[in-house]
Amino acid sequence: MRFSTKAIHAGQDPDPATGSVTVPVYLTSTYMQLRPGREGKYVYSRTANPTRNALEESLAALEGGKVGVAFSSGLAATTTVLMLLRKGDHVIAGDDIYGGTYRLFDQVLRNYGLQFTYVDPRSPDKVEQAVRKNTKMIWIETPTNPLMRVVDIRAISKIATKNHAMLVVDNTFASPYLQNPLKLGANISVHSTTKYLGGHSDLIGGAAIATDTDVGKRLKFLQNAVGAVPGPLDCWLVLRGIKTLAVRMDRHDSNAKQISEFLQKEPKVEQVYYPGLPDHPQRDVVKRQMRGYGGMLSFELKGGFGDCEKLLTKLRVFTLAESLGGVESLIEHPASMTHASIPRQRRMEQGIKDTLIRMSVGIEDVEDLLEDLQRGFKGL
Ligand SMILES: *Cc1c(COP(=O)(O)O)cnc(C)c1O
Repeated sequence: MRFSTKAIHAGQDPDPATGSVTVPVYLTSTYMQLRPGREGKYVYSRTANPTRNALEESLAALEGGKVGVAFSSGLAATTTVLMLLRKGDHVIAGDDIYGGTYRLFDQVLRNYGLQFTYVDPRSPDKVEQAVRKNTKMIWIETPTNPLMRVVDIRAISKIATKNHAMLVVDNTFASPYLQNPLKLGANISVHSTTKYLGGHSDLIGGAAIATDTDVGKRLKFLQNAVGAVPGPLDCWLVLRGIKTLAVRMDRHDSNAKQISEFLQKEPKVEQVYYPGLPDHPQRDVVKRQMRGYGGMLSFELKGGFGDCEKLLTKLRVFTLAESLGGVESLIEHPASMTHASIPRQRRMEQGIKDTLIRMSVGIEDVEDLLEDLQRGFKGL
């Protein structure tokens, strides 16, 4: 089966009891057992729930993995994946990862004896140099937030394999429609389903998909043991989002491409960051591992913070808000919003200037988005 067919059907056979074409929302915590001590397929909804199972099968099919495991948020997925490790284990992480992931590593998991080294994973040599005897995991994100840097998944996976470490890729920005890390050598693909998979800015959710059955089994064990599971209604909403993922992503991609071209011509714009632009510094990697470019982009404005503020408050179709991946276009200022918790010095070192603006381009009519931006830029 091809992608869109899988997105609509994998894990979602009509309900055997009623013929219901959509997967029912099983709002139950517990299940009747026929005999004591002889457990049926379902016992208790933290362990398994039919709506969640349908989502997990769907996610595994979309990423080309063996086991899909759903969580109550992207960070719950990340936390649970890190629990595959033990005290004293070392993790190499990209230096440009989601702020909440960095906070979890640095301010929570470090206290439990995990060690972290942050390197620029665009350079596989630097990753290799950071490997220690106790390195058990490499954690990367691509494209990165907000500068849309791209990491060569296959190159990093070779280093991981050689050193008996697991490679985990946060695939939230690309979605399984545009990129499949597991097919490029990663062991686990992680998602915030809050973003493109859900796609409608109406839920918080996460997922981890594993290539290996044993790793998958361990993740399932941890999902039940740790307990950060999503409710059946949220699972159903993600399933509904997934059905239209392909058509949404095509439109996000086409709208963002046109906006990136508009921004490149706009005299008030210093620099545009979008994987779809021919001058993206890792164009060859983009072409090798992505089937499209997605809806996320960022740009630097000439001038100062005042101009950013003017532009951001003048727009009417774009909403000034954090988060991403929904049908509606969002715009935000990383230095004062999504990335404000990073000390200014570290932010500057990462290249996130005070005049950087990030967009999650939605699926509205692109003409309305372009007109909105033209109006916004006029007043600067
Ligand atoms: C939002 C996000 C997360 C965290 O997901 P939540 O669902 O908010 O917990 C992790 N990684 C990336 C790339 C994200 O954008």
